Amino acid sequence: MGKVTTLPAQNCIYYRFGFCVYEETLNPGFDVESRCLVLMELEEKYDHLLSQADNFDLNQDQVHKIWVSRFGENVMWEDFCRAYMPRSRDDDRCSSLFGNACIKLFPECGGRCPHYMPERC
Ligand code: SF4
Ligand code: SF4
Repeated sequence: MGKVTTLPAQNCIYYRFGFCVYEETLNPGFDVESRCLVLMELEEKYDHLLSQADNFDLNQDQVHKIWVSRFGENVMWEDFCRAYMPRSRDDDRCSSLFGNACIKLFPECGGRCPHYMPERC
């Protein structure tokens, strides 16, 4: 019997660089396993800083100053993730970022599936 092959799905609206964003589109943020490592790390550090601010009764300005002294005004994504790739020269957000998630942590698209939805031309 011949091998069953699936048709390519590069034109599916859920297709991103070989990965599938279907589940994330249905339930944004639900799958914590696919969260961007940089955002997760920064969120953890910021939460820690806020809890310290609470303990030491720091105001917002002081918290901001501490944050900037530790991480600078602009966070260097590449310091936190080796797979980071900027979108363009003017946009330093990672090209793999989808909402707060990382496309590279989604399942790979194995070709047209029951959720396949071609883009309208
Ligand atoms: S064809 Fe299916 S697996 Fe592939 S991107 Fe579309 S929805 Fe996802
Ligand atoms: S590749 Fe980009 S989106 Fe994915 S974890 Fe790294 S920085 Fe975040």
